[in-house]
Amino acid sequence: MRIGVVGTGYVGLVSGTCFAEFGIEVVCVDKDAGKIERLKKGEIPIYEPGLDALVEKQTKAGRLSFTTDINEAVKGADAIFIAVGTPTNPVDGNADMKYVHQAAKEIAAALDGYTVIVNKSTVPVGTAAEVEKIIREANPKADFDVCSNPEFLREGAAISDFMRPDRVVIGSRSERASEVMRNLYRPLYINETPMIITTPETAEIIKYAANAFLATKITFINEIANLCEKAGGNVQEVARGIGIDGRIGSKFLHAGPGYGGSCFPKDTLALTQIGQKYGAAQNIVETVVWVNSERQKSMAERVIEACGGSVEGKRIGVLGMSFKPNTDDVRESPSLVIVPLLQEHGAKVAAFDPVAMEEAAKHLEDVEWCKDAYEVATDADALVIVTEWNEFRALNLDKIEELMKHKRLIDLRNIYKTPDMEKRGFHYISIGRAEITPGKARLKEAASG
Ligand code: NAD
Repeated sequence: MRIGVVGTGYVGLVSGTCFAEFGIEVVCVDKDAGKIERLKKGEIPIYEPGLDALVEKQTKAGRLSFTTDINEAVKGADAIFIAVGTPTNPVDGNADMKYVHQAAKEIAAALDGYTVIVNKSTVPVGTAAEVEKIIREANPKADFDVCSNPEFLREGAAISDFMRPDRVVIGSRSERASEVMRNLYRPLYINETPMIITTPETAEIIKYAANAFLATKITFINEIANLCEKAGGNVQEVARGIGIDGRIGSKFLHAGPGYGGSCFPKDTLALTQIGQKYGAAQNIVETVVWVNSERQKSMAERVIEACGGSVEGKRIGVLGMSFKPNTDDVRESPSLVIVPLLQEHGAKVAAFDPVAMEEAAKHLEDVEWCKDAYEVATDADALVIVTEWNEFRALNLDKIEELMKHKRLIDLRNIYKTPDMEKRGFHYISIGRAEITPGKARLKEAASG
């Protein structure tokens, strides 16, 4: 079989490469000539563990190729995947559909023979119908069907997520198109991966519902962390205590500085807009969006408080820029909120990230970019862990202590233990772990009465 992938970003490149690994001939197309040039030379434009080796293997095998010419991708293809971006429209918070619409028009002009057009981008309900209309109008003679096939991969674990997904969702009204999709995913059938074959509308809603649910789970535990801090509990134990319940599940219950990344922020926001459009307000998700945005900002306040109420003229070291480890993606990362707020309050920020500094530098000014965590710690008044990269879990704390001006550690990922840090004499602030001695619970009533 042969497919084309329009948009060679995170999702397009990973899915294209993995389909090639399934034995399918794949042509990846992108408008960004620089990106295609790099890929042709074997350079991978994103940081994703294992992707470079797989791209090299598949290009050498002749199954994976890259082009800027959409005709090369469309001609003779059984299916064309649309994997372009659907960023937030800054005006109204909706998903900006201009790239999807443009891709549909370009595909329409290049179609030759029966082709399945597959929306892999995360798109509002109704987009499959919209794409069908665009193609029909642009090329009335075209023989095609449109399917929805949302992608659930996570950056940092993208290859294994694609090769061993929890499920594959296919939204299709055409048996012919469903058959093509089943054939493309045949290797996963063998692994007995659940295949949910449904309507395009349901598939489109599944993707937003999944992301909004996970974002809600994170936001929920973050608010429970606030309660733990005030009342003297330990959020990690609470998370374990509830997560062990099979109805709840332990994943996405790690309290932290608020969710970020290329998907949750934009998809939660888009879902609130979709709800408004259809007169089905998504009140829970609207609240989640607001709570999360406030939370990211409050992390800067936490640092300021830890520094005695002011960071004016102080050197604040920040460890981690990406929104999570194992990616260089900084889109909507808490670091991009925390750093500017600290700077506004007069802090001099020094920072390090194992792979995301180049990306972060595109969004931040006046940051001293350091070669490692120890350079960041040198003369620092406080150290803030924003991303839980493995190398930050095993810092040489003796060295850090020696280098820092003041031993203040604000651990927004709870990667260290409070007793250990206190034993070392650190002023240590973490998330939701302000255990206090029994009998001293900070209940308002107890204090007043
Ligand atoms: P991205 O920004 O990394 O890549 C999009 C690519 O599309 C860019 O390289 C851009 O140049 C290209 N492009 C835009 N219009 C084009 C056109 N007409 N022809 C050819 N190329 C074109 O985006 P991404 O992170 O891969 O996300 C793509 C979609 O997948 C989004 O809808 C996103 O929500 C969804 N998604 C992303 C993830 C993730 O973890 N990144 C996971 C699941 C779903």
